[in-house]
Amino acid sequence: MKNVIQMTEKLINVECFDCGADTPRVILPESRSGRVVRCMRCGAIYVSPRKAGQFLTDARMGDPPPEVPPDEKKWAKINAAHRFNLLHRWNFVHDPGTLLDVGCWTGFFLKTAEKRGWKVKGLEPVDAAAQWGRINLGLDILTAVFEKAELPNGNFDMVSLMHALEHLSDPNTALARVNRLLKPGGIIALETPNADCLAARILGRRWRQFISRHVAFFTPVTIARLLKRHGFENVRVRRIGRTVPVRLIADRIKRYYSRPLGNVLDRVFRITGLSNAGIRIDPGDIMFAAARKK
Ligand SMILES: [Zn+2]
Repeated sequence: MKNVIQMTEKLINVECFDCGADTPRVILPESRSGRVVRCMRCGAIYVSPRKAGQFLTDARMGDPPPEVPPDEKKWAKINAAHRFNLLHRWNFVHDPGTLLDVGCWTGFFLKTAEKRGWKVKGLEPVDAAAQWGRINLGLDILTAVFEKAELPNGNFDMVSLMHALEHLSDPNTALARVNRLLKPGGIIALETPNADCLAARILGRRWRQFISRHVAFFTPVTIARLLKRHGFENVRVRRIGRTVPVRLIADRIKRYYSRPLGNVLDRVFRITGLSNAGIRIDPGDIMFAAARKK
């Protein structure tokens, strides 16, 4: 296994995924992601040590089926449209082509793309989520981890990784592969947490993106550097929000802050008929990046 420098029975220390140095400085001794370190040489942020094999190579066949709210399609469509509009505005996309979505979960991003004329394929390591998308959305979703999936090179006009790169043990290998999968001039579009945001600095280990299975964290600087290293140009990075139903705010307040306050808000939203209205939320901790294969 690449990048492994020391093995104990259960935990492995990993070198920096970005520059290969072994000069970690601990920034969070403990978090839901594990021990988070920053590379002293290049500034990359990653989880080390890791449980051997936990994140790495195999499809997750036993995970329970995803909970999909009945109006998920509506919100997914709005959010996907927002992203496609950005790609148009940045002059990356003019006409629909072939799209591969890596880590597509239930496939709603793909479904929206398909409705916009794209020929779509998805990859998803959690079999129950992939199956949900195959059955309920009629999509071509392969249950597989990106590292092992058999895919034809030079075949796609766009490859997307929406909240996927932070799950991969070796982002370098992954981005090199994305480059090979793309046609010349093809587009990579990705969305990932921004570890250099205010929320991460203020909340520390309580930041919502420090969760289990997130093993690599990026900033606008490090993601642009990685994309350039792997043969991409015209790199664009910006923060991005998400449109959600208003009732989700009450739900989150109940879960993370105060149940009584959440319940009051829930009632207010119901009485005023706002529960199912949309609201754009942007805590500034998610970034959207795109670039063109040279
Ligand atoms: Zn480094």
